[in-house]
Amino acid sequence: MNFSNLHRKDFVQQLSTTPFDLLVIGGGITGCGIALDAALRGMKVALIEKNDFASGTSSRSTKLIHGGLRYLKQLEIKLVHDVGSERAVVHRNARHIVIPEKMLLPIVEDGSLGKNSSSVGLLVYDLLAGVKKDERRKMLDRHATVKAEPLLAFDKLVGGGLYFEYRTDDSRLTIEIAKSAHENGAVLLNYAESKSFVYDDSKNIVGVKVFDKISNAEFEICAKTIVNACGPWVDLLRKEDNSLKGKRLQLTKGVHIVFPYEKLPLKQAAYFDVGDGRMIFAIPRNRITYVGTTDTVYNQNLDKPQCNKEDAQYLLNATNKMFPSVGLKAEDIVSSWAGLRPLIYEEGKSASELSRKDEIMISPSGLISIAGGKLTGYRLMAEKIVDLVSKKLKRDFGKCKTKKFRLSGGEFKNEEEFQKSLAQFIEAGKAENISADKIREWFYRYGTSVSKLIVNAKNGKSLEAAELLYCLEHEMIFNISDFMIRRTGKIFFDRTNSEKQIEELSNSLSKTFALDESSATKNFASVAEEFKAAVTFS
Ligand SMILES: Cc1cc2nc3c(=O)[nH]c(=O)nc-3n(C[C@H](O)[C@H](O)[C@H](O)COP(=O)(O)OP(=O)(O)OC[C@H]3O[C@@H](n4cnc5c(N)ncnc54)[C@H](O)[C@@H]3O)c2cc1C
Repeated sequence: MNFSNLHRKDFVQQLSTTPFDLLVIGGGITGCGIALDAALRGMKVALIEKNDFASGTSSRSTKLIHGGLRYLKQLEIKLVHDVGSERAVVHRNARHIVIPEKMLLPIVEDGSLGKNSSSVGLLVYDLLAGVKKDERRKMLDRHATVKAEPLLAFDKLVGGGLYFEYRTDDSRLTIEIAKSAHENGAVLLNYAESKSFVYDDSKNIVGVKVFDKISNAEFEICAKTIVNACGPWVDLLRKEDNSLKGKRLQLTKGVHIVFPYEKLPLKQAAYFDVGDGRMIFAIPRNRITYVGTTDTVYNQNLDKPQCNKEDAQYLLNATNKMFPSVGLKAEDIVSSWAGLRPLIYEEGKSASELSRKDEIMISPSGLISIAGGKLTGYRLMAEKIVDLVSKKLKRDFGKCKTKKFRLSGGEFKNEEEFQKSLAQFIEAGKAENISADKIREWFYRYGTSVSKLIVNAKNGKSLEAAELLYCLEHEMIFNISDFMIRRTGKIFFDRTNSEKQIEELSNSLSKTFALDESSATKNFASVAEEFKAAVTFS
């Protein structure tokens, strides 16, 4: 069965009739990673997500697979080592969406970074992460630094460091993991919300009552173990389980703002000092450049974090200070996003001082909760959880298999095979009058699955319709927001062009799902509202 909401009834049937070894609640990268690891070890696994996959923090990050250079300053050596060395693994397993990217660390006169300390820091960062000798950091003098990025102010520059990171698309990485879990037998469903828990006579958790947001019906899932991977919502589920004791979450908000590339035409991604002890990224990506992030304590609505005026102004000021000739204004912002970090509260620590380590909490009912961590470390977090679940189930499911497992779309042995495959798809595209640029765009989004998009185009679909059909048949989209925001990132990376397509694509999807007029209107209104919210700063 395809990973498609066209089979929703079958998925609900399977979920409500199978006794599962493991039920994961939450379809962000943490939950999807756990579902994949468990499925590969042969567990019967289910996953439910209350909105769309990756609709929480996992579509709102800085979109980097990184070790976290700044955590070195906080002496989080183990975290930097674990997550840093994991970067290459995540890259190998999903080459199409985890791309090497050189990062420039400019060192300026009045900044908090010194030339020598930066040189040592970057080297330690590389060594901890096991970076190959020829890829290790390179320190630059001020001339070489401004050559790498001409928009930096030469008179303030002391020098710079070039080091190695990876960029990704967080929600695409999540969906490729979800697809891989599905392909290996896990049953995953979006728009299915855990409402309450079911317990046996000894008060052990044995199931979940689920609300299906599409059919408005309720059903029950039975499972021997239940993992709460709800990111910022983890404590709400612990509260529902009556076990919100001891460690608690402290949410912090981080925002990003997006400019058309020509307004901030960086040659080079940069990670720079803001002057208040914080560091921010400026990352050029095709038609745009995005800047972020902030880190402020957050106690408001979990479902709709927004970039407000102060957040936007803070990032504007920092960017204008580092690249003074660009003179960016609030009107130049074409999109934005805001995400919540599910961190663990620590007495007396400020938002940016809180650890990014992951934390596992086990409730008396047996509910296993996991929070914190990074996108980058998702596979390691999943391994820990599935080892724990195996122990609980008292069955030998064998060792973790994800280290060498290629994710859906990323089935390449090595870089050579990856490049060869891209060239072959470009040839295949030519035969159907699809430009090399379009094929490249698709390839860096869907990897080997581009073959299916080309077939859709061959069957007479426009390029947009061919892509939409692929996501409908293989990526569980239900409405146009899923497509525009989390499968393609168009709202962030190509907002101006994609806005024109919303209505037509939305109508086509509503027809496919035979929605009544009111549901169709609601879906369309909801994406229109998200497009508006991305440029409204209150
Ligand atoms: C601003 C910012 C920048 C970041 N940058 C990076 C970066 O560059 N690199 C990096 O490695 N990490 C980064 N991170 C961290 C990373 O994004 C997170 O660690 C990761 O996305 C958390 O994923 P998650 O699956 O735990 O949570 P989420 O993605 O939030 O997933 C939890 C899911 O649970 C669902 N859910 C909630 N309640 C229920 C319920 N009752 N029933 C069913 N489902 C439910 C939610 O809808 C949600 O989709 C960043 C984080 C932020 C905020």
